[in-house]
Amino acid sequence: MIALILLCLAGYSAGVVRIEPFHEPEPAVTSDVEYGNPTSGIPVVCYHQVSGISSKYGVTPGALWSDLEAFYEAGFSLITTVDLENGFLQFPSGRRPMILTFDDGWQDNFSFIEYPDGSHSTDPGCVVAILADFTEEYPDFGGGAIFFVSWDKIPFEQEEFVGEKLNMLIDMGHEVGNHTWRHRHFIGLMADQWSPAILRAMDGFYQYLGMRTSSISSVAWPGGAIQKGSWVTDRLMAMEYDGLPAVDLGFVVDGAISSFRRVLPDPDERVRISRIDMSQYSVYRLLQWPNLMTYGMGRSNLHDPLPWRP
Ligand SMILES: [Zn+2]
Repeated sequence: MIALILLCLAGYSAGVVRIEPFHEPEPAVTSDVEYGNPTSGIPVVCYHQVSGISSKYGVTPGALWSDLEAFYEAGFSLITTVDLENGFLQFPSGRRPMILTFDDGWQDNFSFIEYPDGSHSTDPGCVVAILADFTEEYPDFGGGAIFFVSWDKIPFEQEEFVGEKLNMLIDMGHEVGNHTWRHRHFIGLMADQWSPAILRAMDGFYQYLGMRTSSISSVAWPGGAIQKGSWVTDRLMAMEYDGLPAVDLGFVVDGAISSFRRVLPDPDERVRISRIDMSQYSVYRLLQWPNLMTYGMGRSNLHDPLPWRP
């Protein structure tokens, strides 16, 4: 256990160097006005470890809770990719959408406590429990996050509970996302390695989720970046698992907020959706972005003008 903690503190896991990018650009002046639309910026925020252990990209449970309160008070509620697909059918009117993501599949994201009698329950200090508590206190915040899981270590780090946790996440209204097989940074990978990185991870999910693996088509690129170019997009979008697209949406970490009216119909943008790493950023700074979707963008307003893919 001590060795594991030391490895994590050193930034290593299963022999793979974890170096997430440090991106903290000032908000760029990106406006939807040039696209003839009102603002449609949806913040996608990113966390890694959430524990009392200090690490470069980690935050404390208290910091996560206070971030969520600040987002809630600023009018935000959670959506998932399902809401994007169905045109925000279940999104409360008058709220502003945001997406909450957690990368890597650390145990502090979803942990079970085991008891001497052989039973187990969810650790009240882990992210999944914190989100459940937050939703109970603020029901109109919603409760669905995306957990991007990589397979360079045991997902959520308790081998006997991998399947139960992955299924529970989906049962609870969260989404499971693909963070690739070995967590190797895509920028340094040859193109012929992309498919194994993505599809072997899908094999990993299939072992535990079976047919439910078909719900996994969002990918967070390890290292927070992906090569530019439409040939890259074409190659990613062509990947299939069990006859279904393995990459429908891709997420980078670039300290920006994507305008979704522009993103959704454009494959090049769909696989490069901006995220903000909240261990490097504050809610206050995030609120300075000029393209943030404002209040009153309920489902009809948001849905109708979107140039939705057929
Ligand atoms: Zn990662």
